[in-house]
Amino acid sequence: MAKVLAVLYPDPVGGYPPKYARDSIPEITHYPDGSTVPSPEGIDFKPGELLGSVSGELGLRKYLESHGHQLIVTSDKQGPDSVFEKELPTADVVISQPFWPAYLTADLINKAKNLKLAITAGIGSDHVDLNAANEHHITVAEVTYSNSISVAESDVMQVLALVRNFIPAHEIIQQGGWNIADAASRSYDLEGMTVGIVAAGRIGRAVLERLKPFNVKLLYTQRHQLPAEVEKQLGATFVADVKDLAKVVDVAVLCAPLHAQTYHMFDDKLLATMKRGAYIVNDSRGELVDRDAIVRALESGHLAGYSGDVWYPQPAPADHPWRSMPHQAMIPHMSGTSLSAQARYAAGTREILEAFFENKPIRPEYLIAQDGHLAGVGAKSYTVKKGEETPGSGEKE
Ligand code: NDP
Repeated sequence: MAKVLAVLYPDPVGGYPPKYARDSIPEITHYPDGSTVPSPEGIDFKPGELLGSVSGELGLRKYLESHGHQLIVTSDKQGPDSVFEKELPTADVVISQPFWPAYLTADLINKAKNLKLAITAGIGSDHVDLNAANEHHITVAEVTYSNSISVAESDVMQVLALVRNFIPAHEIIQQGGWNIADAASRSYDLEGMTVGIVAAGRIGRAVLERLKPFNVKLLYTQRHQLPAEVEKQLGATFVADVKDLAKVVDVAVLCAPLHAQTYHMFDDKLLATMKRGAYIVNDSRGELVDRDAIVRALESGHLAGYSGDVWYPQPAPADHPWRSMPHQAMIPHMSGTSLSAQARYAAGTREILEAFFENKPIRPEYLIAQDGHLAGVGAKSYTVKKGEETPGSGEKE
């Protein structure tokens, strides 16, 4: 019997289940690269249900208990008295979502003597100290592609929301006003602008594809240039160094994983080289940017807008400066937890658990670390150095 500890975000304030806006979600069978969506032996939920909160339990209870395993679900994750930290030393499997990350620091991993598998229900395993996971031979797996398109859609929405000044205009209406001049005086067309994508992976490429019809100039940067035919199809030009991209873009969309090379990539120095009036959208990880440098650039008017759903730490404290900085369209970490995405990553979590309990291989595209090394997709996306903490794995600000 295994003990599975799932750390999920709290239920809706109005109770569980919520009243759903729709009765069904479209069925997706394949991702854009041709790989199939998760295919567990079965699921015990209806796609479209809220699965990512405590009562949703990622739809796992029936499956786990019918196989004799124990499932503990909690949202209480912070500090030594939390349910998470109390249960962790005897847990065999930890499941956590990046939206409400159970930070698995090196210290906590040391105490988790039984831990064999850490599953990210979603994408992005920087909340796990990957070095420590490797030292303790803990398998780290995530549900690759499950919410990539969800995030790409949200990125595009936020680019438009910033450039068109949508949120302040909406607020004028909610406050009973009609001052078109106020709404229009920060509103521009995206058409003709230069948009730079930082990391054209699954999300970044989907953003490029979705922005192409807006008649914008598309640039991208990452460590490896895409094949020429892919660049042609995307209509995107490669810029080898993020510094050269930052200088020329009107909008930067950050789509890179968080690791030592990308930590605080957008700091005071890089921001100062950007055009006055540039926008940044970051649904990737909060620590890709320097928190206070963003606030300074917005307050001085150097940046025209910043939008994103990723913060550090998460949940963001009530006095986090990004809640009150000007010209922002911040939302809680939710781009990748649409009800549509939840159905996929809950099924993917079950698929990973089935493989683990039946001693079958986990799909390589789901693997981040295994047998003491970065593995599968993780070997391509992350870097680890001995003795170095994974940047997102602590609760620090
Ligand atoms: P992928 O692994 O498909 O793509 C990552 C891309 O990052 C690769 O193309 C890689 O290219 C590039 N990259 C890695 N290191 C660097 C670097 N040092 N400099 C520039 N580019 C780099 O990941 P996804 O697109 O699926 O996801 C990206 C991230 O988005 C996740 O890691 C996660 O943090 C975040 N995310 C956020 C969600 C949300 O709800 N807000 C949900 C899902 C994901 P190359 O190797 O050539 O550099």
